[in-house]
Amino acid sequence: MLADTSLPLRGACQCGACSFEVQASLKARFRCHCLICQAFNDKPFADVVVARARHVVLKNAGNISFRKYRPPPNFNRGLCRACGKPVVEVAGIGPFKVMFIPASNFEADARLTPPRFDIFYHRRVQDMPDSLPRYSGYLASELAVGRLIMGGL
Ligand SMILES: [Zn+2]
Ligand SMILES: [Zn+2]
Repeated sequence: MLADTSLPLRGACQCGACSFEVQASLKARFRCHCLICQAFNDKPFADVVVARARHVVLKNAGNISFRKYRPPPNFNRGLCRACGKPVVEVAGIGPFKVMFIPASNFEADARLTPPRFDIFYHRRVQDMPDSLPRYSGYLASELAVGRLIMGGL
């Protein structure tokens, strides 16, 4: 494998207390308009990239407060104990463990893929100006993310 000089991708929460590195290029990214993401991110929607958990190094994991908000199970959302802003979200277990990381947490020069689609679009408080695929409803939204993850990260 050729060395990718853009790696690792680096980022942190808003205050910088919870920094992380991702040791792989990230191909999966989407926007979620669900009410929990709106509240968790304190934004109209979440714009997240998806990484395999084993590719992510959390530098100050002790500064992250993880909390489950609701089913599906094994879905933990991590907030920085210092600034209270999102760091990462963790879903799944074992080899299927993935992390959802807000795109805005990455350094400005990190090479991130553009978003692929919108989910929970029926919950949106802001219309999207582009024409990416849009999924509404719980099942369609969850399936879109499932297909994205199974399609390879
Ligand atoms: Zn912070
Ligand atoms: Zn959401």
